Amino acid sequence: MYKDYYKSLGLDRNASKDEVKKAYRKLAKQYHPDKNPDNKQAEEKFKEVSEAYEAINSGKSSNNGGYQQSSHDDFARGSSFNDFFRNFTGQSSNSQHYQQTTKGGDLRIRVSITLDEVINGGTKKLKFKRKIVCNPCSGKGGTDVSTCLKCNGVGVVNKNNGLFIVSVNCDNCNGTGTIIRNKCNTCSGTKFNYQEEIIDFKIRPGTKTGDTMMSYGYGNESVNGSPGDLYIKIQEETYPMGLQRKGVDFMMPVVVPLLSCILGDDLTIETPIGVLNVNLPAGTKDGNYISVKGKGIITDFAKGDFFFNVNYRIPSNITEEEKEILNKLKQSKNFK
Ligand SMILES: [Zn+2]
Ligand SMILES: [Zn+2]
Repeated sequence: MYKDYYKSLGLDRNASKDEVKKAYRKLAKQYHPDKNPDNKQAEEKFKEVSEAYEAINSGKSSNNGGYQQSSHDDFARGSSFNDFFRNFTGQSSNSQHYQQTTKGGDLRIRVSITLDEVINGGTKKLKFKRKIVCNPCSGKGGTDVSTCLKCNGVGVVNKNNGLFIVSVNCDNCNGTGTIIRNKCNTCSGTKFNYQEEIIDFKIRPGTKTGDTMMSYGYGNESVNGSPGDLYIKIQEETYPMGLQRKGVDFMMPVVVPLLSCILGDDLTIETPIGVLNVNLPAGTKDGNYISVKGKGIITDFAKGDFFFNVNYRIPSNITEEEKEILNKLKQSKNFK
């Protein structure tokens, strides 16, 4: 895909770095998801301007006015944002201080979904805690705040461990880069408090284990930068009765009488999705799959089926009368 990132920010290609920064800040504020809840268009626009800013700053926007957009998943995007902010602030990624003066940390939460949600979709409530900037001290941690002299405000110091020099968290300021003499009572000088959030998120029919959803700005807050994002990773629960899911299809083992397999039969079989009527053809063999059309998962793109993996049942006890019939059968042509 060919993109003009300057155009995304409403600028022409001669725009200076300052103009780019200004335009980005204005647009990001305008379209931020927090200000435009449930506005898909604003969310798209927010993504677009963020991507444009990132691309221009990272030098990926080439002279010919375009840039080959790479395909990246949400996790990759998250990390590239951090890389970008690292460049932006010129600070080392090892520093705790860096964490507090840039984008807030992302949160990753695993959520399990039920069979009903896999089939019908639905809305789920998610309760979680995130770090928010302390209100009483505005994220300063207290009063009488000064830069840590031991680490010069960086939060890390170099240590010689005999072999080579390593960076470790500054013990004078606990890696924060600042010394607070009069600590805030609410956050005890940590600059942040934990706040419980409850959000609704949509499950589409066909959602599967490993799918990830992202909620912009619902990660930890940052004192000076934008908040991190929340990633919701889906985990399907284990299904009862040996039910397995393969894409949009279901698969389940079932044991049926031997003679039903030989003669064919109409069976009603209980499953975790309800009772299904199954037409077992004559001559069904052990291990055969018999399908019930349209009883899998139905999404916007596909319609699944339900497959029974058939095994036949041989009685462990038989009466004299049954024995007599079977012995007679044993002599007949097709059973020899
Ligand atoms: Zn320090
Ligand atoms: Zn505070």
